[in-house]
Amino acid sequence: MKSPAFDYVRVDSVADALSAYNAMKEDAVYLAGGHSLVPSLALRLQAPAQLIDISGITELSGIYLENGWLRIGAMTRHAQAISDPLIAKHAALLAAAAPYVAHPAIRNRGTIGGSLSLADPASEFPAVAVAMGAEMEVIGAKGARRIPADAFFVGLYETAMAPGEILRAVFVPPVRPGQIIGFDEIARRRGDYAMVGAAVQAVAIDGVIEAISIALFSVGERPTPALQAAKALRGGKIDTAGITAAKEALSEDLDPPDDPQFPASARVHLARVLLGRILANLEASA
Ligand SMILES: Cc1cc2nc3c(=O)[nH]c(=O)nc-3n(C[C@H](O)[C@H](O)[C@H](O)COP(=O)(O)OP(=O)(O)OC[C@H]3O[C@@H](n4cnc5c(N)ncnc54)[C@H](O)[C@@H]3O)c2cc1C
Repeated sequence: MKSPAFDYVRVDSVADALSAYNAMKEDAVYLAGGHSLVPSLALRLQAPAQLIDISGITELSGIYLENGWLRIGAMTRHAQAISDPLIAKHAALLAAAAPYVAHPAIRNRGTIGGSLSLADPASEFPAVAVAMGAEMEVIGAKGARRIPADAFFVGLYETAMAPGEILRAVFVPPVRPGQIIGFDEIARRRGDYAMVGAAVQAVAIDGVIEAISIALFSVGERPTPALQAAKALRGGKIDTAGITAAKEALSEDLDPPDDPQFPASARVHLARVLLGRILANLEASA
C-alpha cells in the first residue's frame, strides 16, 4: 500500500522543528528513523499533512556524561546502543536489550528516541528506561523539562509529552557499586516483538539485594513495574526461596489483557518463567 500524500521538511535545529510543527497546527509528525512511522503511513493508519525530519538536529545526538548521568541523545540508533562503550559501562541494561530489538537493518536506522516516543507496550526500551530509573528530557515551546521514565509512559502508545514536544535525550543515573542487570524476553522468533519481556536492575552488596527494579513489557498498556516481586527480593539473597517468592508475587503486579490467541493466564505464566530465568542467571553475579 502507498502512503497518503504529505509535505516533507528537514530541519537542523529544535527551534525550527517546533516552529514548523506550530505552523502546521498539529497536522505534522516528527520523522526520526522512520521504522515505525513509515510503515504506519503505508498502512494508512495516519495521514499527517507534513513530516518534519528531525534526524539532522545536532542537539538530538551525542552520548556523554553530564553531572555523573549518562546523556543519550534521542537520535542514537539502536545499533549504537550495542557498540557504544559509554552505554556498555553506564547503561548496561540498554546495551543488553538492544540486540533483542528487531533485526540489523532496523537497528541501523531506528532511534532510541523514536522507540521511547512511540511508547509501544511491546518494545524493549521503554521497560529498560523504567528499570534503569532514567529520565526523559523533552523540549517544547515552553522550554525543556525532565520526566522520570515511569511517569513518561502513560498508556498505549501514549507518553506524557505534550503535542509538538520533542524528546531531546535520555538521562541514565550514575551506576551504583554492586549494580547488576538482567534482561530477557520470550518471542516466537528471534527479532520478533516479545510475547513477554523483563528488565531487571539491582544493587547487591555481599549477595544481599539492597535495591531492585523490575519492569515487564508486553504485559499491559505500558511498561509494568513489578513492585511486589521486587519487594519480595529486597533485603534478601537471590536464592531459590527468593526466586520462588518473587515469581509468586508477580501475579499481584500483573493484570494482562485477555485475547483469544493468548489468554491472560498464559501471559502471567510466561512472565513467571521469564523472571525465574533472569533471577537464576543473576544469582551467580549477585
Ligand atoms: C519489521 C520491524 C520490526 C520491529 N521490531 C521491533 C522490536 O522487536 N522491538 C522494538 O522495540 N521495536 C521494533 N521495531 C520498531 C523500531 O524499533 C522503530 O525504529 C522504533 O520503534 C521507532 O524509532 P524510529 O526512530 O524509527 O521512529 P519513527 O518511526 O521515525 O517515529 C516513531 C514515532 O515517534 C515520534 N518521534 C520519533 N522521534 C521523536 C522524538 N525525538 N521526539 C518526539 N517524537 C518523536 C514520531 O513522530 C513517530 O510518531 C520494529 C520495526 C520494524 C519495521
